[in-house]
Amino acid sequence: MFNDIKGQAQAIRILQKEIATSSISGAYLFTGPAGVGKTLTALTFAKALNCKKEKMDSCDECSSCQKIEHRNHPDVRIIAPENDSIKIEQIRNLKRESSYKLYEGRKKVWIIEQADKFGLAAANSILKILEEPPPQTVLILISQIKEGLLPTILSRCEVIRFFPLPLQEIEKIIAQQLPQGSNKIHILAKLARGRVEEALHLIKEENTLKIREELLNALRRNMNLEEMFKLAAQWANYKGKELQRFLDMILFWFRDILILGQGGKEWLINYDKVEELAREKDKYSTEEIKRIMETIEKARYYLKSNVSQKLVLESLWLNLKEENLRKPNLTG
Ligand SMILES: [Zn+2]
Repeated sequence: MFNDIKGQAQAIRILQKEIATSSISGAYLFTGPAGVGKTLTALTFAKALNCKKEKMDSCDECSSCQKIEHRNHPDVRIIAPENDSIKIEQIRNLKRESSYKLYEGRKKVWIIEQADKFGLAAANSILKILEEPPPQTVLILISQIKEGLLPTILSRCEVIRFFPLPLQEIEKIIAQQLPQGSNKIHILAKLARGRVEEALHLIKEENTLKIREELLNALRRNMNLEEMFKLAAQWANYKGKELQRFLDMILFWFRDILILGQGGKEWLINYDKVEELAREKDKYSTEEIKRIMETIEKARYYLKSNVSQKLVLESLWLNLKEENLRKPNLTG
């Protein structure tokens, strides 16, 4: 139900109004940061358009809603990049289906995740679909980066924006899941940075705060090359999202040092470490911090390609510590 989606009232209001006034677009772009409910909203919209009980919302109980929930409704398709790009064959399959009648629903809904990852041929093919939309079909493109789409595609979509949730909303969600009065609520909400999905993960992953401690310890310490390589090898055990999260944690740390340097104490993520941040701040120039943040971003980029994870982490660590080591007056 639309009510289950947190913090996206504006997007939902638009969609529900369009259902109510039968003015549903042929194509949408849902855009906004990761983990704030874009796919959930697309699925709920698909349910509402096909629900057997409700007109403006999903009931989550009828056979149609259930099939969409379990991703086996014949008229609702979700596609995502295969090997990092959306292939022409995937679009061809959709096209072929568009010539069939509706199986059981009122609207066909095609949801395309990471729509900024169209291969060129696939992009052209989707453009043709947008130019001559198949009847009774709603196309929902989902992307974090609106600019990643061809302008010709963008101009044919109704853009629906999704936003990070306010801190208080995230705190409420976290508070529901933790023992009453837990002292972790605020810091976990800060680390989630407005993303519900991330908040829910951070609650489950009890290690989050422990990992942060280990990381900060490592950053504090002076170490020789051998120790650095050993640490990089340890980090190389992190996989996928966990690794991204780990890099986020390093990035947030330096971001906080930078922000503190500019007097933005109230914007800190690691607000509970303000004294340590203040000490760190004096060790770096603004330029150095910016360079470190670039290095982290670069590492993140390389880790998405096929470069050896261990190699990237070793190089990242050396870079981080190089800034650090150049200052001989530093002690651990
Ligand atoms: Zn239903």
